[in-house]
This record gives sequence, structure tokens and C-alpha cells, in this order.
Amino acid sequence: MRPIQMVDLKRQYAGIKQAVDEAVAAVMDSTAFINGQTVVDFSDQLAAYLDVKHVIPCANGTDALQIALMAAGLQPGDEVITPSFTYIATTEVIALLRLTPVFVEVDPDTFCMDPSAIEKAITPKTKAIVPVHLYGQSADMEKILEIAKAHHLHVIEDNAQAIGADYTFSDGTVKKTGTMGDIGCTSFFPSKNLGCFGDGGAVCTNDDSLAEKMRMIANHGQSKKYYHDVVGCNSRLDSIQAAVLNIKLKQLDRYNAARFEAAAYYTAAFKENPRIKTPCIAPNNKHVFHQYTLVMEGVDRNQLVEQLASAQIPAMIYYPVPAHRQKMFSFLNLPKVDLPVTDWLTERVVSLPMHTELDREQLDYITDKVNYFTK
Ligand SMILES: *Cc1c(COP(=O)(O)O)cnc(C)c1O
Repeated sequence: MRPIQMVDLKRQYAGIKQAVDEAVAAVMDSTAFINGQTVVDFSDQLAAYLDVKHVIPCANGTDALQIALMAAGLQPGDEVITPSFTYIATTEVIALLRLTPVFVEVDPDTFCMDPSAIEKAITPKTKAIVPVHLYGQSADMEKILEIAKAHHLHVIEDNAQAIGADYTFSDGTVKKTGTMGDIGCTSFFPSKNLGCFGDGGAVCTNDDSLAEKMRMIANHGQSKKYYHDVVGCNSRLDSIQAAVLNIKLKQLDRYNAARFEAAAYYTAAFKENPRIKTPCIAPNNKHVFHQYTLVMEGVDRNQLVEQLASAQIPAMIYYPVPAHRQKMFSFLNLPKVDLPVTDWLTERVVSLPMHTELDREQLDYITDKVNYFTK
């Protein structure tokens, strides 16, 4: 059996090596390392794939969130409602901009923001909602958008983990995650579903004026060369990364299908195991399984991770400390929040290897061991 990795980028690269190597070599020959044609091509291709008007590439997913929040025109002290059960970047940029993160509960089945918690968290200072499409499936966007509309709030989607996922509205309309709110933010970190060979990210929107603002913000607030209208930042996607992404975007649906198939295989193998709760796919979602995350009941989760490691099976805890318990926010003196579902999940989740190259032999080995260690 091939060694099992959490994410197997080597084998994925082997499948597209010639095309990637040629595309990267072409950028090197052109020396158009910044804002080259490959960046324009990639932005256009991604906009077509997502069916969204504007894609503005940037340096990473964290910058994408920051640029989006800056473009929304929020003022220090404005409140932004967001889950605590997420990767730190989502909430970090809120605090960085001196906005106030208001952490709300997630749904225990989908791990995504619980819409019923949002209304209770709204105050006159609330200006935006940042839902996270965690582990690869959409948050309940129909309800979130309804609440946002009723209260005139911006919706900025953290789509770093779910690029390619679909959400179906009750009228039958299907949309890609990241294109339902005012702005969608994504990351091309190597291990993401659409990953490059370094750092990368993008924001997208259907709103012309937000698009123009975000283009300016990502480019030193510049309106024309050397004329700077607002304080921005320097956040660009390298041409070499765009060249890689141009090739990988064509594979994205195939990659996501491979993840889905591996997830289905895991789920079938754990069906009879009463100590394992397998991932729940909301009926209106097409899940792209950035992570395959179990909830362990009546099992010492940390011991399981150790046992798996001794059997050469990597497993990860995403994430061991929720945002509302992180020290970094102490300077904000936030009021204490009680998030029992978030705390409960934090103690019980385990993510198994998930990538595009898992084969039957590996999946059989992993599922056998997990079932054996949780007997
Ligand atoms: C990866 C990730 C980010 C940040 O992306 P980077 O490219 O690493 O900056 C933000 N939010 C979530 C949910 C992520 O998983």
C-alpha cells in the first residue's frame, strides 16, 4: 500500500505535471511575473466557472477576507457576525480592522453557522455577516440572506474550503458557494480544493462598484498609476501561481468528484459504528469535502488520533480551539459568549485523510483501523 497522507499533493501533481511544467516555464520565459496574461486568463476562467461577474485575484485567502471587509466600508467598532467554529483567519481579519467579531453558534450536523443564532446576535452596530462554508459545504444561505436583507447587512462568504460546491434555493435556483452574498472570498493555499503551488486567493462579486473598490484596495488604493484614493494594501496573485491554477481549474470538478467518492466510501464503512457520526450533507447542498470530519461519541478522540498515528494513518483536529476561546481577541474585551455546540464539537471532531488520490486499498485500511480502534 502507498503511504497514507492527509493530503497527497505529489501524486496529484504527477497527473498534470507536463501541462503545469510547460505553463510555468512559459511564464518564466515571458518574465511577466506580476499581473501577466495568465492572471487575467485565470480571473476570466474562474468568473465563468463560478458564474460571477468579477473575480479579483489576491495574495491569499486571509487577504481576500480583509479586502472584502475593507470594501464593505465598515467603521472601527462595527459588529460582524461570524462563527467561532472556523479557521482563525475568518475572525482574525475582523479584529485586525478593529471591527468587533460577534461569535455565533454552528449547526451540530452541518458545522456551519446556525441562522437562528444570527437574529439574536444582531444589534444596532451590526454591519455584516461572514458565513463560512466549512469543510466543503454551503452554510444555509437562503436563511442567512433573508436575515441580512431584513437588517441591511453585508454578507461576505468565506469560501476558502468550498470552491466548486453548490447550494440550491427553494425556488430551484442553483448557485456556487461564494457567489450568493455581496462578496465571496477564497484561498488557493496548496491543500485547498483548488490549490496552487504557494499562496493565492481571490474575491468575487456581482456588484460593479464593490469590484472596483476591491481592485483598488488590493492595489494600494490606486485609481490610476501613482494616484491613491484610499488606503489599501499590496495583494497580488503571482503569474506563476495563476498558470498552475489555469490548469487545475479545469480539473476541479473531477477533483471534487474524487473527494466526494472517497467520502461516500468512508461513510458507508462507518454506517454500523454507533460511536461515529459521519458528515451530514444538507439536502440543498452539493458537498465538495475539503475535509472529511467525524464526530466521535463515547470515544477518547485524542487517543484515537494517537492510535491511528501508530498505524501510519494521519488524522487532524480541525480545530482544537474555537475562536471565542483564542487569546488573540482578549484586547477587544468582548462580552463572554456561551457556545455549547461549538465547544462540544471542538472536543469531538476528527478529520481523516481527504484528497483526490485516495485509493480503495488505502480507504479499506483506514476504515478498518478506525472501526477497530473505536470498538
Ligand atoms: C484557509 C482558510 C482561510 C485563509 O486562507 P489563506 O490562503 O491560508 O490565507 C480562511 N478561511 C478558511 C475557512 C480557511 O480554511
